[in-house]
Amino acid sequence: MDTINKMEELAWEERRRNPIPAPKCDGCFSRFRGTPPDEDEEDGAEDVGDAFKRCTTCDYTICENCTHLDIQGVPYFDRPPGTCRCLKSNFGVSYCLSSPCYLDGDGNKPYHGDRHPKVASSGYGEDAFEVKERQCRTCGVVARCLKKEHLKDALPGIN
Ligand SMILES: [Zn+2]
Ligand SMILES: [Zn+2]
Ligand SMILES: [Zn+2]
Repeated sequence: MDTINKMEELAWEERRRNPIPAPKCDGCFSRFRGTPPDEDEEDGAEDVGDAFKRCTTCDYTICENCTHLDIQGVPYFDRPPGTCRCLKSNFGVSYCLSSPCYLDGDGNKPYHGDRHPKVASSGYGEDAFEVKERQCRTCGVVARCLKKEHLKDALPGIN
């Protein structure tokens, strides 16, 4: 881990310990409404409205714009703006409840753990799921999980 990463980790660790209302969106770095501009910022810089989503686990806080799919980018190079820093969930919603998506993960590491989306809305047929129910290793619920060969799909049916 290089020094910049380490400093970033420490800063986030501090935020987790002492959460303060975020002055800026962690996805696009725009100011939230009511935050005074930085001294080095140009006058008239636009704010982006209110904080829209905040993860109570990692404190990542974003504006509404950053939840839009079309600005999520390629997570292997950059954190998708709409993805919080937790590895197994996004803003408190466990990734195991949905079908695989290339955006899932903490921005550094993709999530390839167990998945048990509802069969009907998963984008997969029944035969993509394990035959027997078992305990999900991510959330502990007993359900029919997707077979291992699908866990690294970029999207349902695409790998
Ligand atoms: Zn934003
Ligand atoms: Zn989080
Ligand atoms: Zn689960």
